[in-house]
Amino acid sequence: MSRRTKLYEGKAKILYEGPEPGTLIQYFKDDATAFNAEKKGTINGKGVINNRISEHVFTRLGHIGIPTHFIRRLNMREQLIRQVDIIPLEVVVRNVAAGSISKRLGIEEGEPLPHTLIEYYYKDDALGDPLVAEEHIACFNWASNDEMHDISSMAIRINDFLCGMFAAIDIRLIDFKLEFGRLYDGDYSRVILADEISPDGCRLWDMATGEKLDKDRFRRDLGGEEEAYREVARRLGLLNGEDTGPGEVFDLSHARSRLRGPPPLKK
Ligand code: C5P
Repeated sequence: MSRRTKLYEGKAKILYEGPEPGTLIQYFKDDATAFNAEKKGTINGKGVINNRISEHVFTRLGHIGIPTHFIRRLNMREQLIRQVDIIPLEVVVRNVAAGSISKRLGIEEGEPLPHTLIEYYYKDDALGDPLVAEEHIACFNWASNDEMHDISSMAIRINDFLCGMFAAIDIRLIDFKLEFGRLYDGDYSRVILADEISPDGCRLWDMATGEKLDKDRFRRDLGGEEEAYREVARRLGLLNGEDTGPGEVFDLSHARSRLRGPPPLKK
């Protein structure tokens, strides 16, 4: 096989030149990082699972009319995507308080928000991806007003769709991160959904137990990250030969006890 040109290597993905102009190959790694890459590790098989989950989610979003960069999955770890100019914003949608908003504003994790919040973070590793206001985005011209209108309306539609999709498999969608890019057609460009949607960039809690089925297992040293990612894929019906649906209560307590030793004796 001929050597491919690597265009970019990120924390969890690599982008290679695609087979045709305007296309790229997105390769999903098992590497996991947290806290702006201060914490590094691997989650075995994560790349394979995230490739499948992201394919599934992007395909379904395409069906409801959200334009995305996804073209097709090529193999276990790679998908063919459209080349876009990434807009330098991380768009975070929150339904329930958790993570940085809980820390920043002192809201208890798990507290439902009065209404869905969209936050924007400026994508800059050196600055630690700071939270920014729409005024900053306009002032520094990171995205136009029209683009921001498209981004926020797509983010709300995506959230509505994903909340329903996950609720159907007994998962609460707490929050998630999106990235968008500009697709050029001559002088004209439009905004489409890019990057990935997977347990790496979402908070997903089991509806019955509240168990975390996402990257917080890695961030917070909870253990059981491989099982949690697989469980999301299984419930979505993406693991061949394994049954789908919520199944019995999903219990990751063994992962915790493996990490922390046996539970304390009851009095
Ligand atoms: O850390 P924070 O609470 O702001 O994260 C909100 C959501 O955005 C979480 O689901 C997290 O996984 C995702 N996120 C991400 N990449 C980042 C920051 C946040 O995927 N760089």
